[in-house]
Amino acid sequence: MATFKAIRIDKADKGTTAALVQFDEAELMDGDVTVRVDWSTLNYKDGLAVTGRSPVVRRFPMIAGIDFAGTVEQSSHPQWKPGDQVICTGWGMGETHLGAYAEKARVKGDWLVALPKGLSAREAMAIGTAGFTAMLAVIALERHGLTPDRGPVVVTGAAGGVGSVATAVLAKLGYHVIASTGRAAEADYLKSLGAAEVIDRNELSAPAKPLAKERWAGGVDSVGSTTLANLLSMTKYGGAIAACGLAAGMDLPASVAPFILRGVCLLGIDSVMCPVEARKAAWNRLASDLDRAKLAEITREIGFDQVFDLAPQILAGQVRGRVVVKIS
Ligand code: NDP
Repeated sequence: MATFKAIRIDKADKGTTAALVQFDEAELMDGDVTVRVDWSTLNYKDGLAVTGRSPVVRRFPMIAGIDFAGTVEQSSHPQWKPGDQVICTGWGMGETHLGAYAEKARVKGDWLVALPKGLSAREAMAIGTAGFTAMLAVIALERHGLTPDRGPVVVTGAAGGVGSVATAVLAKLGYHVIASTGRAAEADYLKSLGAAEVIDRNELSAPAKPLAKERWAGGVDSVGSTTLANLLSMTKYGGAIAACGLAAGMDLPASVAPFILRGVCLLGIDSVMCPVEARKAAWNRLASDLDRAKLAEITREIGFDQVFDLAPQILAGQVRGRVVVKIS
């Protein structure tokens, strides 16, 4: 019987349990490609799954982990052959399909993206779902017509995973980036990523006025709730905010005023079910528009067993930048 190391989530009397176990290969779910997982990452959603803080896991037993970079071992999918280096993010991995914190994963070939040229598997996971989502947000803003000459852009949760990559990419593209953080001690870190200004997130957390002074032409928000409402009320005429997260809450206590009086747009960003063509475009942009030295500065590497310690920390907003998990 072949087994491999995995972080398994089981249902318990109260909530769920998570443990590093030997998982039986015969229990892998259906899929036409089997991958040796080389790297995974720690995302906010992984924190929720491993701690059981929120019911993101909807099948038991589950292997946690929502993204990986790895090497194809077996494939009956026409696009992939053994030895190919691939990336997989989302598609319900770690939620409804056995996930990435495992030495092996079996998935649908249609879910995979080839590792872009010039990017290592470790770098791809240093970016991970969070960085990929940040790039989807940047592309959505560009599609809206945002350019650096339209005015500053704001990034919330800036010291987190999505926020760090968004800050670095937008700065490289020539934007004046206003980074909002609750961690004043990370101001130098954010400036080193290219932020032109660092503001205290408390400026954006009080109940929002319908319209406030126009401060930015666009933004990437990973925080939600009153923060997103404030972002919208402070967006310049014709601008847009890309909403991708809920670190402060799922609610949106906003008014329609920014939409109907300033033509502001709220752009929704989803990385999980994002179509493959959009994924390829985002990964290619990440390969070209994210400074590798900055990516290295954002990234911290951990082993399999450290996921348990860091999961509560990411939920508490204490993890800076991105965490890569060495699997194989
Ligand atoms: P991180 O924990 O790395 O970053 C979140 C950041 O938000 C924190 O670092 C902190 O930044 C800030 N923050 C945390 N709690 C609060 C709070 N109560 N009020 C205000 N700010 C807070 O997580 P990720 O970057 O991985 O994910 C960010 C969000 O995006 C999550 O909600 C996640 O679920 C979502 N997400 C959505 C995706 C999608 O497909 N739409 C994909 C990936 C992530 P600071 O200390 O700088 O203030």
